[in-house]
Amino acid sequence: MTPYYDAHCHYYSLKKKYENFVIAAVSDDYSSSLETLSLKDKNVLVGVAIHPWNVHREKLEPVLKLIPKADFIGEVGLDYRLAQAPKDMQIEYFTKFLQESQGKLINVHALDAWKDALDLLIKYDVKRAILHWYSGPIELLKDIEGAGYFITVNPSVTFQKKHQRVVENAPLKIILTESDGGYEYRGRLLEPIHIPEAIDFLEKIKNIEKEKILKIIEENFKKAFNFSDP
Ligand SMILES: [Zn+2]
Repeated sequence: MTPYYDAHCHYYSLKKKYENFVIAAVSDDYSSSLETLSLKDKNVLVGVAIHPWNVHREKLEPVLKLIPKADFIGEVGLDYRLAQAPKDMQIEYFTKFLQESQGKLINVHALDAWKDALDLLIKYDVKRAILHWYSGPIELLKDIEGAGYFITVNPSVTFQKKHQRVVENAPLKIILTESDGGYEYRGRLLEPIHIPEAIDFLEKIKNIEKEKILKIIEENFKKAFNFSDP
């Protein structure tokens, strides 16, 4: 059976095993980066990062030093709605991660900052990136596709209207699935086991059978993360 692929999960905070899942485990700060690195497994890819919400209270250098041990960088980015750090400091941190990425995939958070984040990815010649839980402007989807980047669909797509419109307009070739596991959204703790809800939604919206969607997501994931079967 084709496994489910979770392209963005705060796996360190869940401390559970998930059968038949391949998980990209993102981090939020230095200590969770260390913890995440220790969780590397044949079905768990590990990322190191400083989340934009933590930029105001985290030192950059210690996390940059962990990059060689990581499979990818994330969750990094910009947040013009909820982060405490000023814009210029967020941009400085994000840019530094892009410059030091060693060609690794960037797993991006860009709430209310989609255009700026995309512009920086392109400016620093990033080859592989995911704009996680994309709920930005529809017209940017073309540029995301043109740059060879991906977006993720979160199970909350079943009720979040803005996210639904994105999924309706995005081609399947740029779509990955995610849980954002560990994060609580509108009173529900998100987990990888919710991903089938996102698949069901895709099946309905795209009018393509489930097994085919799972295969496309698998291909996309392998391409994005440079990942081959364990
Ligand atoms: Zn996240």
